[in-house]
Amino acid sequence: MVKGFYCVKTDECIPFSGCLECARSRLNRKLDCPFDEAVIAGMINNIKNKTAISVTMISNCHRASFIQRHHDTWVYPSGMYWAFRGQIAHKVMEESTLHADAVIETRFEKEWDGIMVEGTPDLVIPSQKVLKDYKTTVNIPSYLNKDRLVLAYENHRVQVNLYAWLVPYDIEEIEVVYMSMEETRICPVEKWAESSTKKSYQTVDRYMEENLVPLYEAFESETMPPYARNWACAEYCGVSDICYRELKKELMAARRVVPLKKKGKKNGDTAKTANG
Ligand code: SF4
Ligand code: SF4
Repeated sequence: MVKGFYCVKTDECIPFSGCLECARSRLNRKLDCPFDEAVIAGMINNIKNKTAISVTMISNCHRASFIQRHHDTWVYPSGMYWAFRGQIAHKVMEESTLHADAVIETRFEKEWDGIMVEGTPDLVIPSQKVLKDYKTTVNIPSYLNKDRLVLAYENHRVQVNLYAWLVPYDIEEIEVVYMSMEETRICPVEKWAESSTKKSYQTVDRYMEENLVPLYEAFESETMPPYARNWACAEYCGVSDICYRELKKELMAARRVVPLKKKGKKNGDTAKTANG
């Protein structure tokens, strides 16, 4: 559970309400803190302590999702700013009425093999059978696929495919719309079938089997998923301090030499007979 912020000026743990009050009262300006009250309020709204398994949890780092659920955490406002920036784009989209039947930022739930999955796609246009997700990014993707189309980042391809499975609409086209400070780009994403007999095809069922099931089992057994370095570790992980602290413990435990017990009589044991 995310409990609050680390103050960027004092490094103290401070509840969300305390940080917001500091900015509202303009004490933050006396401390030369760069975070305005509206930015802090937006970041607090974005940090939701979720209880269900969301599409974002499945498609992002499982270890981070586990830590957020099972450890009390504190985050630096600077570490959450990238998420706040994304909210601005969503807000603009919410306020522009583009389609009469547009389904904007609506939460859906669906069961996969008895496990409840939830998610909130940015935009669904049922009349066009289209689902879109909007991402703000520093670098717009540039890697071309076999059809010479720019390929969306892998975790975003997974996310929109799981959203297409989740929503109660017939979806034929899925897209990730990227926005950087300089440009915007629409990346169409290949849609997965729900299942397939062809082993080389990625399908929703295969992805869930390999990702949802281990995450669900980690939550149920309260066992932290193993460390697996990924794109978020360096700059976009709000729980990396806990992750690395636990990793250090895991490595030390693995190195510890456990003396093997010899079977049978130990050296120096006196022989015992049935009579004692
Ligand atoms: S507003 Fe800035 S200075 Fe005040 S508590 Fe929050 S991070 Fe610290
Ligand atoms: S530091 Fe990397 S591996 Fe660890 S929780 Fe964060 S994203 Fe996951």
